[in-house]
Amino acid sequence: MTDLHRLSIREISEGLAAAKFSSRELTEHYLKRIAKIDPQVRSYVTVTNDVALAQADAADALRQADQATALTGIPVAHKDIFCTQGIKTSAGSKMLDNFISPYDATVVAQGKNAGLVTLGKVNMDEFAMGSTSESSFYGATKNPWALDHVPGGSSGGSAAVVAADLAPFATGTDTGGSIRQPASFCGLTGLKPTYGRVSRYGIIAYASSLDQAGPMARSAEDCAYLMNVMAGHDAKDSTSMDKAVEDYVANLNATTLKGLRIGIPKQYFNVAGLDAAVKARVEESLKKLEELGAVLVEIDLNMTESYVPTYYLIAPAEASSNLSRYDGVRYGYRAENPQDILDLYKRSRSEGFGAEVQRRILIGTYALSAGYYDAYYVKAQKVRRLIQQDFLKAFEQVDVIAAPTAPTTAYKIGASLDPVEMYLGDIYTIAVNLAGLPAISAPVGFDQDHLPVGLQLIGNYWSESQLLSVVHQYQQATDWHTQRAAIAEENA
Ligand code: GLN
Repeated sequence: MTDLHRLSIREISEGLAAAKFSSRELTEHYLKRIAKIDPQVRSYVTVTNDVALAQADAADALRQADQATALTGIPVAHKDIFCTQGIKTSAGSKMLDNFISPYDATVVAQGKNAGLVTLGKVNMDEFAMGSTSESSFYGATKNPWALDHVPGGSSGGSAAVVAADLAPFATGTDTGGSIRQPASFCGLTGLKPTYGRVSRYGIIAYASSLDQAGPMARSAEDCAYLMNVMAGHDAKDSTSMDKAVEDYVANLNATTLKGLRIGIPKQYFNVAGLDAAVKARVEESLKKLEELGAVLVEIDLNMTESYVPTYYLIAPAEASSNLSRYDGVRYGYRAENPQDILDLYKRSRSEGFGAEVQRRILIGTYALSAGYYDAYYVKAQKVRRLIQQDFLKAFEQVDVIAAPTAPTTAYKIGASLDPVEMYLGDIYTIAVNLAGLPAISAPVGFDQDHLPVGLQLIGNYWSESQLLSVVHQYQQATDWHTQRAAIAEENA
């Protein structure tokens, strides 16, 4: 078969079960595509050919022995922030360019247990700080819809591999939009689960109170399959929740759109930088949801103006603490010929970290320093609580909240936004992380340059199933999620 890369996860699962093709054939098919097409997209940092083929053979053997799960033998790409035993885990940084993890992240281990095949590790903004994937030590990944545009970030590689059909689905992480925004820029579906739903163990930490991993794929259905593998309690992550996991695939039709109350925050649609085409596509998608039975309710989210300043204090503060472990001593980049221990620390860190990471460390250290702690960090924590309360109040009125995922479509590579401009692009995603809520981005059309636009739906705590179900039903009635970039049509 030449078009294996066009199959949905359910179709792959059924094809494997019916022995229409083997995991070996499927994996070889993807590896061939990666070899041919990835030099243009530049999404993989590491392709694990040998590991993938060995895992594929093992998956085929399990299937022969009747021990396969729904996902046994299906290839996946992991964001290069998930530790993978014996395989480089760089977090997109020179600091970890030589780092081979001695253990697997829980998400990776759960994938292996389910029989997933690891195609490789994909590019990202350095330490997940950024919205374009350009801050990676390995250079910019290209947006498959327009190769001179960014795929978004920080999980830009995860989005690009799926949009170019170089993996059927991928893992991502979202600290402040890093699953949803690249999904939006690349015409995909991406779910950021409730904080605590997916284990953070073995994920290189950015801002621990905000970090959460989730699936990125073409459709809500494909995301549901990966979410079934990723979700769950993990004793190794004290912030993971000991709460039964739902069957996200079985629940895809569980929520009815009839009477579903969708909140439309007034403040969100009056944001200065909101692109007209984005606004139009999002409004059209809401109209469609209304046709399908949903009820649109105007709501207030009064804290909107505080999102960016609050996030850009808390996230850098936590980052400055998390990144203090990279000192050139135990692992990671080490400066050559240090004169003394201070010189070793200083040079390892200034040579090993890129500019954006250094900027965040400076901001975060400042905000946490004795003289400014109350004025900045403590204040930001208080505002964070108000933001959360604002959402909880809204959820007394509505079932889900709709918003654009990002105010614009994908930027041009090298657009060299100044940092504040780039931070403002996170306006619609970061409050969700501050509140710990789940949210999903789904494709709802294109702008005048045929760049994808995403609709975001924010749910109450633990409503992943509902979000996937709402998007699934929207996707049953529309075909934005099935449209492919030209490069994805190419055959290997
Ligand atoms: N743009 C956000 C930031 O740079 C995205 C972070 C993320 O979700 N990893 O902080």
